[in-house]
Amino acid sequence: MPSLSVPPPKCLQKPLVVPHRHMFGPGPSNVPPRILEAGANPVIGHMHPEIFEIMSDIKSGIQYMFQTQNKMTLAVSGTGHTAMECAIFNTVEPGDSVLAAVNGIWGSAKVNTIVAPPGGYLTNTDIEKALSKHRPALFFLAHGESSTGVLHPLDGIGQLCHKYNCLFLVDSVASIGGTPLYMDQQEMDILYTGSQKVLNAPPGTAPISFSERACQKVFNRRTKPVSFFLDLNWLANYWGCDDKPTRVYHHTGPVTAFYSLRESLAVLAEEGLENSWERHETVAEYFHAGLESMGLKLFVKEKVTRLPTVTTIVAPYGYDWKEITSYIMKTHNLEISGGLGPSVGLVLRVGLMGCNSSKANVDMVLAALRDALKHCHRSKV
Ligand code: PMP
Repeated sequence: MPSLSVPPPKCLQKPLVVPHRHMFGPGPSNVPPRILEAGANPVIGHMHPEIFEIMSDIKSGIQYMFQTQNKMTLAVSGTGHTAMECAIFNTVEPGDSVLAAVNGIWGSAKVNTIVAPPGGYLTNTDIEKALSKHRPALFFLAHGESSTGVLHPLDGIGQLCHKYNCLFLVDSVASIGGTPLYMDQQEMDILYTGSQKVLNAPPGTAPISFSERACQKVFNRRTKPVSFFLDLNWLANYWGCDDKPTRVYHHTGPVTAFYSLRESLAVLAEEGLENSWERHETVAEYFHAGLESMGLKLFVKEKVTRLPTVTTIVAPYGYDWKEITSYIMKTHNLEISGGLGPSVGLVLRVGLMGCNSSKANVDMVLAALRDALKHCHRSKV
């Protein structure tokens, strides 16, 4: 007779302990009680009519946040990376050429690239040159490059892509809701985000939308997508985006995560996109002025291309950035982070997103930074 060879773990006899923490890094951000409580509602079936209604509300909320009329609008079960793979797996076939704008880490891939210097961005002339050279089927751009703190300009790029018969894919994980973006008017073909940044919902759901042009490519491909889980044929049916009269089981949707996502979209709709954009901009300007008055420098030189949601501060000279972030975490119970990808060692990153974007929180971060600069070790060189 087999017997248990692994006993019940002792650690699980202790109660779950999770600290309260100010989440002012590049994400996830704090989840306010209203959104947390929405997620504490009872679990019901992923195919029950009430869930389909909640999913339909989510779809409307995403259409508002994205400013799109696209019928093919849904939330994938997973994080920003899941949505990124959903976009690519469904639109790109073997042999297709892809062009990625690299203005930080989120555009890195083994495809043709056009690269901006860290903290910089690409002009439409750079982009048009690359489109005409590589003739890609898909062009990827991160709107809010959270690794460098750059808000990439979007105007005219969709039109350029369409001139070269290319789909325009935009990552707005770190930007949407906090700064203007108009999916339809700016001619984006696929746009995605995550739940855990400006929306202040827990990580685990990722809004995504496909234009008619993108659907034409997705539903007329010669080969099957490499992923079953992210196959838009299935997802479209589960989310009621196709014209089929019934929905069939594809995967068990994370229903409690859907409740939180719905609540976070309701909060955004109540405030109104324009008010949210304005609040993020005002708070970011207040923050940036405060940093400069402390003698700190902003990594992104051009004001209009500074991301209002995630600020990159030039790592203070003579300090070890890791000591600063850990001091602030230990002493102020507050998360800020160092750089990522091309900005590692060069910057400190502070995210003030959604409900975290307030002048009171700016004052808290500035006080923590002032304290850290006083107490952390500074080399004499
Ligand atoms: N794109 C950007 C711009 C991001 O900031 C992030 C998360 N930091 C992602 C994509 C990936 O999202 P996730 O961690 O939710 O998979």
